[in-house]
Amino acid sequence: MAQILDGLRVRDAIQNECRPRIAALPRPPGLAVILAGHDPASEIYVRNKVKACAELGIYSEKLTPPDSVSTAELLAAVNSFNRRPEIDGILVQMPLPPNVDSKKVLLAVSPGKDVDGFHPCNVGNLVTGRPGPRPCTPAGIIRLLQYYQIPIAGGHAVVVGRSDIVGKPMAMLLLHENATVTICHSKTKDLAAVCREADILVAALGRPAALTADFIRPGAVVVDVGINRITNREEAARIFRGSTEKLAAFDRKGSVLVGDVHPLDVTERASAYTPVPGGVGPLTIAMLMLNTVESAER
Ligand code: NAP
Repeated sequence: MAQILDGLRVRDAIQNECRPRIAALPRPPGLAVILAGHDPASEIYVRNKVKACAELGIYSEKLTPPDSVSTAELLAAVNSFNRRPEIDGILVQMPLPPNVDSKKVLLAVSPGKDVDGFHPCNVGNLVTGRPGPRPCTPAGIIRLLQYYQIPIAGGHAVVVGRSDIVGKPMAMLLLHENATVTICHSKTKDLAAVCREADILVAALGRPAALTADFIRPGAVVVDVGINRITNREEAARIFRGSTEKLAAFDRKGSVLVGDVHPLDVTERASAYTPVPGGVGPLTIAMLMLNTVESAER
């Protein structure tokens, strides 16, 4: 039986690490969140981030400009948060409305308050191994692997996806942990063969259940970053091979979440894996909290 790598347990451990550090600070850490427009998924993410702040005693402030907000207005908002000493972290929820220059807005966040670790200064800190905030999702994955004492050093890690948010920083963090790292993307030839080389396979391609048995070396550790909402019943039935339990859940909710790895195949091939939901998802917010605490400590 493959071991389930439980993200909720690791999230609790990270939050428990935050609590005494928050209590030791002269004032609560402060996180500013900018949520522009009305992207339903972003609204849920931001709600969960604000809730996590409240649970830990982190002060949070939410700014919700409309879809019509201009780049200049967002730059002014970021600069105002940059200047306020009680704000330690600034999070600009992506995606921004299409009329906004996202790169310009992200660049305006002071590197010292960049709790997402997306600013080019902090990307440089990551690449050169200097201290600084690390992108939350990949940093959370490293925590998860360490929590479950999965050996990283000397192993072959294959990361599928090369986004700035997940794939690239994931590869860099694994490299710093002394893995031999391969990065794959949409132009990679014979992806399945490359994936089968992996001792640790990280899937971050945004394609539901795309990595099937053929991509997983028996005994590999599989980390599934993907979050895909399936709303087509036939697709859900195909992925879950007609599982009555899963289809009943689909019928209740009208949708089902799947990762980028096939949810049934992974249980048969991997030695350990992160489930979707309940694997990588909870780690991202926990690491955001930790990055905010560390920023306040600095
Ligand atoms: P993204 O920006 O869309 O990047 C996807 C990457 O996968 C790209 O590098 C792309 O290659 C590659 N790719 C796409 N199709 C492929 C294929 N058929 N074969 C090989 N590579 C392929 O996505 P992202 O933001 O990194 O997110 C990836 C997934 O993680 C999504 O499902 C997202 O919802 C999820 N996610 C989860 C969390 C969490 O907290 N759990 C956080 C962030 C993201 P090219 O570069 O060649 O186009």
